[in-house]
Amino acid sequence: PTRADITYFGAGPAALPTDVLETAAQALLDFKGTGLGIAEHSHRSELATNIINEAKADLASYLDIPADYEVIFMQAGGTGEFAASVYNLVGAWVARQHAAIVAELGGASADEAAVVAALRERVQKDLKLDYIVTGGWSLKAYQEAVRLLGPEYVNLAADARTINDGKFGKIPDQSTWKLSKDAALVYYCDNETVDGVEFPEFPSVLAPRPDGTGPIVVADMSSNILSRRVPVSNYSLLFFGAQKNLGCTGVTVAVIKKSLLPPTTVQPSPALMRKLALPIPPIMLQYEIIAKNNSLYNTLSIFDVYIAGQVLKKLLSTYADKVAGQEAVSQKKSDIIYAALEAHPDVYRIVPDKTVRSRMNICFRVTKNGNVDETEKVFLKESTSQGLTGLKGHRSVGGIRASNYNSIPLEGAQKLAQFIEAFAKA
Ligand code: PLP
Repeated sequence: PTRADITYFGAGPAALPTDVLETAAQALLDFKGTGLGIAEHSHRSELATNIINEAKADLASYLDIPADYEVIFMQAGGTGEFAASVYNLVGAWVARQHAAIVAELGGASADEAAVVAALRERVQKDLKLDYIVTGGWSLKAYQEAVRLLGPEYVNLAADARTINDGKFGKIPDQSTWKLSKDAALVYYCDNETVDGVEFPEFPSVLAPRPDGTGPIVVADMSSNILSRRVPVSNYSLLFFGAQKNLGCTGVTVAVIKKSLLPPTTVQPSPALMRKLALPIPPIMLQYEIIAKNNSLYNTLSIFDVYIAGQVLKKLLSTYADKVAGQEAVSQKKSDIIYAALEAHPDVYRIVPDKTVRSRMNICFRVTKNGNVDETEKVFLKESTSQGLTGLKGHRSVGGIRASNYNSIPLEGAQKLAQFIEAFAKA
């Protein structure tokens, strides 16, 4: 088959727009008549800086990111951000406590040993990171925090499996979340790619208070960013890998409230963190270092940033109302696919609860004929033969998963819905 024959529903990496790839292919050979390809130019060149700055500005424009937020490009992947969020926000928490204790103990003249002793006590008593676990990816983030810090500091504030027979598929009512007082962070995953569970909106229990204070909210938006509006100012940090809705694999974006950058996280010093038996981040996971260097502390793949930039330019030129335009299309596409599944309850079972169904990863089982696994094999074979590919569910949960990212056109969603319909009737 050729590209034109295929609608690819894979969960990530996702398909990219063909025109973006055609431009990028040329840029790989010769970028703007320089005789050198974009992956060969120095990341320190003016040309590279322009690509970074334009992509940052276009992302800020498309998502309406306020001026008191910094956008950085990293290479950590979503998985690296599980660790980076822990390191950086624990550092920021310690820095705040350190400043408070110094003030309590007499300011500049405070005895250093007494400060460290008081700080150590406070860390042991009060340091908590809260995790809302609603699927495989937030579970991994929680486990990474436990691995890096030790279980005593990590609070499983909610576990969706406890309300759904040990499986993911629901989001526990916010009134049951066991949130800590002044947690270093409250973490959740906005869209669970494996389980097809998406937060319908920002969880109101985490909203900032009228005086502007509030919980330090971190969200993983790897698989739904750029598909709906985001109330950025409710977050201290949000992050996403590029490989689903933004671009190709290799670059990860973090959007961070500037007040969490210098001087808060440069303090405390590595020596102090060692005295507190808390981990020190590898330098390439330190947000303020990357931010200070405009994402060029070390060699960044400018090609990946370029692709992301081209995708953003395409989105900005397609939707006059920016992400709100894409949001309407994403909703329409997922409505069409879910409606086709719902029309045949004897054949299809949608996995997650209706209230938390993902618009991006549509997870279902094909129960026709009783033998689910065999029927799904036939479903996959026949859909593939019609050019509808990448529909196999994640290896950990099985079933079918249609990833409805931005690169799936409305016609692609319609074609899948027609196939779902025809397969049920056959
Ligand atoms: N978070 C979510 C929601 C994901 O879907 C993924 C990967 O699919 C990750 C994190 C991990 O990202 P990476 O493979 O870039 O580390």
